[in-house]
Amino acid sequence: MNVLVLMESGDPSRQALTLARKFGDPRSVRMDAIQPFAPDALAAALALAADQLNVSAVFAAGTDRGNEVMARLAARTGLPFAANCIAVTPGDPVEVTRLRWGGSLLEEGRLHSPRALITVAPHTVPADTGPAPAELDLKPSAGSDLVVRVSDHVAPANGGVSLTTAKVIVSGGRGVGSKEGFAIIEELAGLLGAAVGCSRAVTSAGWRPHTDQVGQTGTKVAPEVYIACGISGATQHMAGLKGAKRIVAINSDPQAPLMLNADYTVTGDLKEIVPAITAEIRKRK
Ligand SMILES: Cc1cc2nc3c(=O)[nH]c(=O)nc-3n(C[C@H](O)[C@H](O)[C@H](O)COP(=O)(O)OP(=O)(O)OC[C@H]3O[C@@H](n4cnc5c(N)ncnc54)[C@H](O)[C@@H]3O)c2cc1C
Repeated sequence: MNVLVLMESGDPSRQALTLARKFGDPRSVRMDAIQPFAPDALAAALALAADQLNVSAVFAAGTDRGNEVMARLAARTGLPFAANCIAVTPGDPVEVTRLRWGGSLLEEGRLHSPRALITVAPHTVPADTGPAPAELDLKPSAGSDLVVRVSDHVAPANGGVSLTTAKVIVSGGRGVGSKEGFAIIEELAGLLGAAVGCSRAVTSAGWRPHTDQVGQTGTKVAPEVYIACGISGATQHMAGLKGAKRIVAINSDPQAPLMLNADYTVTGDLKEIVPAITAEIRKRK
């Protein structure tokens, strides 16, 4: 049996490939084969390729773009779509386990469908290390499929280090106190070559743009180190941290959930601790 995989750059697509291989010999369509990003055009290309190859399943990474293209594919074809899966068992029906409510709940589901549409929750399964699947050439898209497309890219204000690819993230919460208070977070991030992140309390207060928000309704991150300053660690924030390898928490409340879930903690006022860390790093540089 064949299976089709929508591939974008980065680990989440190779993680999707790991589960896709359970369904058969994978063929791939590249996300960047259509430029600029146009989700309907990609959905149309996947629908055509899936029919031609008579695949048993179509997979993508559970990224913003992966989920968007697959939702449009489901709408076009009328096939059921299971998003953010962490385990799949081929069969009739296909059995899936998927993340719900930002990862605080695991749902068991069954897909009664001749063709399963599945996205894989990022950083929940190992990345595939096998040979790259054969790539399919895409047919030119109809004009109507290109109506929704990226029309412009605006560079982030954080010096270009993206939250999704950053090795280190310095993140601030309500405890930072104000928009201006983020100067010490930015300074530390600059020294470490890190991206700046924040909690939703911060974006809701208008201190930082939504693009900096980490969590269930923000970006899901996977850095080597996540430094959380003045963030309580609500479930919805933790939902964005499942891929973080090490968490450092700085908080005046030692019982804050993030402190209880961190690898390293510093209890105290971040307005003293963050500048002290920065000064120590400067001394050693
Ligand atoms: C549907 C839904 C989706 C959501 N999605 C997200 C999401 O994607 N991301 C997200 O972050 N939240 C999300 N939230 C909001 C979430 O529930 C919390 O309200 C939010 O994460 C709290 O942000 P915070 O930790 O910065 O603030 P608080 O919970 O107010 O915590 C502030 C922390 O700072 C500490 N502190 C205060 N002063 C200092 C100081 N001087 N030094 C050191 N520590 C200090 C306090 O002890 C406290 O732990 C969502 C909520 C809902 C309902």
